[in-house]
Amino acid sequence: MASQAKGAPQKSGIIGWPVSHSRSPLLHTYWMQKHNIQASYERCPVNPADDFRAALEAMAQDGFVGANVTIPHKETAFAAMDSRTEAAQKLGAVNTIVMREGRLLGANTDGEGFIASLEAGAADPDWRQKPALVLGAGGAARAILAALEQAGVGDIRLVNRTRARAEALAPSFGQALSVGDWQAREDLAKDCGLLVNTTSLGMQGAPALDMGLQNLADGAVVTDIVYTPLETDLLARARASGFVAIDGLGMLMHQAAASFEMWFGVRPQVDAVLRALLVEDLA
Ligand code: NAP
Repeated sequence: MASQAKGAPQKSGIIGWPVSHSRSPLLHTYWMQKHNIQASYERCPVNPADDFRAALEAMAQDGFVGANVTIPHKETAFAAMDSRTEAAQKLGAVNTIVMREGRLLGANTDGEGFIASLEAGAADPDWRQKPALVLGAGGAARAILAALEQAGVGDIRLVNRTRARAEALAPSFGQALSVGDWQAREDLAKDCGLLVNTTSLGMQGAPALDMGLQNLADGAVVTDIVYTPLETDLLARARASGFVAIDGLGMLMHQAAASFEMWFGVRPQVDAVLRALLVEDLA
């Protein structure tokens, strides 16, 4: 694969179909300005009917040093890489591509972003020592389960409306993961130090998550990766009950920070100004 001559302006961007609603340009442009990096971050729509590898090669020739990947291309991107990070390998999905010296490296920073968000939002890291309950078994859940396993959580309980989908995930994980019934979610929350909603329940236009929080451990962390709206009904109830509530913007910002570092060699800060920009944009 050919790559562009040295000294040319650097480009990065997000590949998806569609990509018009992505918040990633706002995030990366903010950091580029802050770190005085002369580069662009562009929306790159790639039709699923097109040759994905050929599209990446054209981008590399055009001066791209890397790109994020979103729906529906994360698995296609995985297959198109020359090499992959361990996290991408585990998930079979790529959200970050590094284009360097004519080769394509695929990474997945979703899990890392999720853990960084918990670390930033929960001063007490006690959740690591207690059971965790994860709701949902879609693409985001897979990255979160892998990250929790890697973070050393010894009892990870997974429930999904369609139980078979949760069961299908289980073989990729070790003994720490157990699958339960969606209807048993309140019982399974007993003594959990962490509750994660990875379902689309609570999103604008979707019903709220119907689940009492009374069985969670004292001081538990409740996190919702849904970020439209920012304060879901689940988070509002968690806050009102004295739990630590962490919204979905943290994961979004921290997974992006890890991608940025892979392209430009600088780990950008997730700060209050950036968060405020995103909140304004979402409104
Ligand atoms: P996905 O692959 O489509 O999975 C959706 C999940 O929601 C499935 O587990 C599905 O269960 C469940 N679900 C949908 N409707 C339900 C209902 N009425 N009752 C119970 N469960 C229901 O989606 P995804 O990519 O994992 O994304 C999930 C959510 O996370 C989205 O809101 C997305 O925007 C958000 N997200 C946020 C970030 C972030 O950085 N904060 C990153 C990724 C995703 P079934 O299997 O039974 O259908």
